Amino acid sequence: MTAAASPIPTAPAAVAPVLEGRDLTKYFSVKTSRGILARRVKLHAVEGVSVSLTPGAVTAVVGESGSGKTTVARLLAKIITPDSGEVLLDGEPVPRGRPRAFARQVQMVFQDPFASLNPVHRVRYHLARPIRIHHISQDVDAAVDDVLRRVSLDPPSQYVDKFPHELSGGQRQRVAIARALAVQARVLLADEPISMLDVSIRLGVLNLLADLRDRERLAILYVTHDIASARYLADTIVVMYAGQVVERAPSVRLTDEPAHPYTQLLLSAAPDPDRSEPPSLAGSGAPPSLLDPPSGCRFHPRCPHVMEICRQQEPPSVDVSPRHTAACWLHVEPAQRRVSAVSAASGAEPGTPTAPGSSPTSPSQED
Ligand code: SF4
Repeated sequence: MTAAASPIPTAPAAVAPVLEGRDLTKYFSVKTSRGILARRVKLHAVEGVSVSLTPGAVTAVVGESGSGKTTVARLLAKIITPDSGEVLLDGEPVPRGRPRAFARQVQMVFQDPFASLNPVHRVRYHLARPIRIHHISQDVDAAVDDVLRRVSLDPPSQYVDKFPHELSGGQRQRVAIARALAVQARVLLADEPISMLDVSIRLGVLNLLADLRDRERLAILYVTHDIASARYLADTIVVMYAGQVVERAPSVRLTDEPAHPYTQLLLSAAPDPDRSEPPSLAGSGAPPSLLDPPSGCRFHPRCPHVMEICRQQEPPSVDVSPRHTAACWLHVEPAQRRVSAVSAASGAEPGTPTAPGSSPTSPSQED
């Protein structure tokens, strides 16, 4: 008699994204000077960026000022319209504009909680109004109390009749988050939510976001210039430079083994209590103008590893390990780099280069 075969363990099914941006590109038309004769030029804000957000996970978008990270959040929120690419909710393209059902499910939390709350209205007004508009509950007062408790403003009676100026910065940001929860949001797009708060209360807001991810299975986009806080909070980190994604990986992996020289630069500049020496900023310098971005790899004027091909050809996004991609020629086989350089010089379409033992990755395949 043979023993019954035990079931073969299977990998957990991948969680379907709730909100996706595919191949998003956005240009802004800006004036080069003042006056009616001023010329208009194209600012390359975001090019070919794909991001997906899954329930119960935080995705951080990290980069310096002007890297395009806030534009990505606004594109995902449909506050601005992409020039190309699309936004999908539950796998379905979202119609033009910002439909009310979409606006309810996808909420933004802004950098400055004081500016995002009306100073002449009490907390009750800020929370009751969206509950009424979206017909969330018949018992509006109970719903307001409930949502205040969910952001740890407890007891609610202590906060509900206060004006924004009577709250601390951290409490104001909690009210802003409560306003998003009040309409039963499934996605939070948090744009630098702690950068204007005192250092002492930043951790509390990060822990609240982590709690909402775990307890309420929210899908959260965390936009920040601070890679250390991204590592603390996020499950996945997407690094942007000059409007493009340069690296993406699970957060611990990315911060322990950064593959792109720009990520290495960001990490070398991050505060580290264990470091006795000042940080060595390999590749320091300023980000490029997005009115006329550098040719090839946009990081090449700052990169300590720059090669000739970097100045000529945009690097492909390459798998450097499972779920870890980097757009850098360093991770492409030298022989394939030469083929690409020759192809570019002759004007032929180059083959897609790959890293040793890896496969090429298009932006839409990532995540
Ligand atoms: Fe540096 Fe070249 Fe990699 Fe760009 S592609 S980050 S210039 S090595």
